Order: sequence, then C-alpha cells, then structure tokens
Amino acid sequence: MNLKNLSTRQIRAIDQAHVWHPYSSLSQPLPTYHVTSASGVRLQLGDGSKLIDGMSSWWCAIHGYNHPQLNEAVSTQLTKMSHVMFGGIIHEPAAQLAQRLVDITPEPLNKVFFSDSGSVSVEIAIKMALQFWQAKGHAEKNQLLTLRKGYHGDTFAAMSVCDPETGMHHLFSEVLRQQVFSESPRCPFNEAWQPDYLADFEHQLIGHKDRLAAVILEPIVQGAGGMHFYSPDYLKGVRALCDEHNVLLIADEIATGFGRTGKLFACEWADISPDILCIGKSLTGGYMTLAATLCNDKVSDGIGESEAGVFMHGPTFMANPLACAVANASIELLLASDWQGNIAHIEAQLKEELAPCKAYNTVTDVRVLGAIGVVEMKDFVDVAALQKRFVEAGVWIRPFAKLVYVMPAFNIEAADLSSLTAAIVEVLKPD
Ligand SMILES: *Cc1c(COP(=O)(O)O)cnc(C)c1O
Repeated sequence: MNLKNLSTRQIRAIDQAHVWHPYSSLSQPLPTYHVTSASGVRLQLGDGSKLIDGMSSWWCAIHGYNHPQLNEAVSTQLTKMSHVMFGGIIHEPAAQLAQRLVDITPEPLNKVFFSDSGSVSVEIAIKMALQFWQAKGHAEKNQLLTLRKGYHGDTFAAMSVCDPETGMHHLFSEVLRQQVFSESPRCPFNEAWQPDYLADFEHQLIGHKDRLAAVILEPIVQGAGGMHFYSPDYLKGVRALCDEHNVLLIADEIATGFGRTGKLFACEWADISPDILCIGKSLTGGYMTLAATLCNDKVSDGIGESEAGVFMHGPTFMANPLACAVANASIELLLASDWQGNIAHIEAQLKEELAPCKAYNTVTDVRVLGAIGVVEMKDFVDVAALQKRFVEAGVWIRPFAKLVYVMPAFNIEAADLSSLTAAIVEVLKPD
C-alpha cells in the first residue's frame, strides 16, 4: 500500500480500522476531524477550512501553535542531540530547566525529577511519599487522602486517586489500591469562607492519619473531574492540617501550572507550598510530552536515608533534551510576556461574553477563572453533535460530560476569543 500523500478519506479509513483515540471505541467510532497543520490559534482542516482553537490541545499550547521561538528552540537542539540516556549523563537543557523550575515554583521546592507524562509524574509523586515514610520507619503510612471530583491521570496509582465516579476509572475499582476520599470542596472560589467547609476533610485526615502517606489534590481548579474552582482558604486549611497531623501534601498542578489560573502556580492563590509538586501539560508549550515532579529537601533527604538509599524510578526518556529545550523556551517566552495582563483580559472577556448562557434553562452554572471559561449544563451533552455544530461555527471546542469549556492560548486576540464565546452562546441556545 502506498502511504504517501494520503487523502482525508484514506487517513480516516486507516484510523477507523486500527487506531485508538482517548476514551474511544473502535467498534463505534465517533466522528473525527482531519487536521493538516496548526498555527497561532488556528487549526487547518483537510477540507481547507480553519478552526479557532479553544482547547489549547487540553491545556498545553499556551502560546498557540507553530510559534517561531519554540520552533527555533527545537531545531537548534535537534542539531546538537535529540536524546541521550540520563543515567550517569548531565546536559545543559536539563540543567537550565531544573534551575528555572526551582526558581519559579513555590519555595522551598528545589529537587526535580523529570518524566514523560502527567500520569507518570503522579506515580512518581506517590512513590516519593511512600519511600519517604518507609525511610522514617513508618511503612504503614502508605495510603493517600484525596478529594472527590479529582482527576490525576490514567495509570494505576493515579487512577486510584481519581474520583471513583466522575474519574472514569470505576471499572478498575477491584484492582485499585483503596484510598481515602473527602468530599469535593464545597466553597466556590470567590465566596465567603466558612470553617465548616473543611470539616469532612479534617475528619477523614484525623481518622486515617496513621495510615496516610500524603494528601494529593489539584489546587484551586479540579480539572477533568468537573472543572470546579474552589476557595484558596480551603487549600490553606489543607496545608495547615497536613502539617499538624504529619501527612505530606502533593499538589497536582499538571493542568493549573504556568499561569492558567492567573497565578504562575495555583498554590500561590493560597500562598502555600506543597511537599511534592507535579507539573506537565503546558510545560513545553504543548510541543512535546514532558513532566516533572518537584519536592522539598525534607522529602529528598528522607528518601536518601531510606533502606534503598536511592529513589526507585528512572524512565528511559528521562529529561529528553528536545523536550527540555522547548520547555526552557516556553517558560522564557511566558515570563517575557505580559501573561498576567493577557490572562486578566481573557478572564474579563470570558466573564462578560459567556454571561448570556446563565439565562438558558439548560445551563446550571457559568464560571470563569483566569483563562478558563466553563458552562455547566443540566444534562450530559451529546459530544459528537455539539462538536459538529462548533466546527460548523468555525471553532474547536470539545465538551465532555455536562461541561462546555474553553481554555485558549494566552496570546489569543480579543476578536478570536469573541468568536469562541459567540459560538458557545449560539450553539447552546435552547431551541
Ligand atoms: C492531564 C492531567 C493528568 C494526566 O496527565 P497525562 O499527561 O495525560 O498523563 C494528571 N493530573 C491532572 C490534574 C491533569 O489535568
């Protein structure tokens, strides 16, 4: 079979016959769209049309696609080396990136473990916490406390801390480690705090503290488990309770890191630092897969004193130089831009332009934080049907469950953002 210059039809035929997509069925495939290239905030389709991208490829492409500075970083690194093993070898892109991450993440995180994807960075965070307590002579502290409506990835330990219902992994509950769940934070981001909001969390923490290695949560924004924004006071309270009861705190900032919520890291809203931090997604500006798990000296010193003496993890593609080089360029680009101003504009525009949806009887809530805009519907949406209407309206917006949401690139122009919000207001309008 000649595989050169495939038509859209040929690509779709191969895809339908052989290729899995995220959470997809090969026997009942949903419609797909053929993207031939992407530039700025536009996806170019095989039929010649262009779509304005509202998803940033799931939180990642914060500077848009095909960015000259990011392209340059990849091609320059490519001429030097695309990959070398990280066992026994050091290289400049990894050193630069580690220093940058230590400099910009909340103090006192200062040790960096590079890995390939968000889920793996969560596995690593969990292993760090378990090895830490083993070293302290408390191997029985090996469970995790987490929040309902949370999402932490698709690998086994990560699945065990996803919400058992909204987290998509209930099929595996028999084989997953049983963890401890507290109710999803009830306090919306901007509403007055009441101490009672922490009661269930405190109850679970105190009830299980002798068995708990760590609390793991997504700070401020619970992403794929419900796009839920909660109060910084809750996060502050969690940090204080973890300290008081001798449990580590893991913050999963894979979705929220690098400015998305209006702070560089969402932990900054509460002015706290976790013991262990997971980052991924937009780390490389959406160019390549790369993640990292950071920890403080307390955790790394503890692991150093453990029976193994070393941290028991080491991925083949650890600190891939191409990925590190583009991550360095993405962070430089972000910090050199007026990202706070850009996100403030996006936030104000999303608030104003999505507001008409509040009047729809099919909508339960419209909420905006930073560069994230969410319309929550009363009922589950028909993803394929809605997607089709969005494409007809010239935008790429992919809903899930009851949620229609956008998280555009930070450098999106106001007119393009208006096209996204206008499409939502129009497509969701009740008949
Ligand atoms: C996406 C995501 C993950 C998983 O990352 P992958 O790169 O898909 O493995 C974990 N935690 C959060 C909060 C995420 O948004």
